[in-house]
Amino acid sequence: MENLAEIDCWIFDLDNTLYPASVDLFGQINVKMSNYIMTLLDVDKVAADKMRAVYWEKYGTSLAGLMKNYKIDPGDFLNIVHDIDFSVLPKDLDLLDALNNLPGRKLVYTNGTVPYAREVLKYRGLIDVFDEIYGIEDATYVPKPFPEAFETIFSKANIVYKRSAMFEDEVRNLEVPFKLGLKTILISDIQSDKKYVNYTIKRLSDFLRQITSNSFK
Ligand SMILES: [Mg+2]
Repeated sequence: MENLAEIDCWIFDLDNTLYPASVDLFGQINVKMSNYIMTLLDVDKVAADKMRAVYWEKYGTSLAGLMKNYKIDPGDFLNIVHDIDFSVLPKDLDLLDALNNLPGRKLVYTNGTVPYAREVLKYRGLIDVFDEIYGIEDATYVPKPFPEAFETIFSKANIVYKRSAMFEDEVRNLEVPFKLGLKTILISDIQSDKKYVNYTIKRLSDFLRQITSNSFK
């Protein structure tokens, strides 16, 4: 943890990072995305799901693939797919407490939109903890893991690379931050063997408490 002594800016992914993957908001969002594609292109669910998988791999997100190939309106798409039931998100007083005790600047950076992030954080009881929230619309809809996306957001947020750390549940989103000089923390039950992952952690609040107790030693 001594590696984190210099860090005074903490950047958090949103989905499956600031709430547990078991809540499965993506289960709801994926249904909406597939429906959107089925209507847009008049294809069945199997074809739509396959397209989403290909786009995720090739373009970073379904949205980026749809924009590239079909020139869709991103705002429209995002409004539709984010129209989900947020009440499945439990409040998290434990994480709230751990974040409140962590000294430094705290940001959210998501491939979703800012209004979507605010909704998620509101339901989690975490809305007041973060200094700034950045979404896909702040990077002209270029998603993580593309370097341009990180460079745009980090520049807007005035990030000092060597004094910042990034938390993510998607390992591919940590490669660019690591190359830029950030510390990288993966939230996963399986230890990562990637050289660009500084820490693999199971539980965010426990790790934040460890950081906090170490920095006051
Ligand atoms: Mg995520």
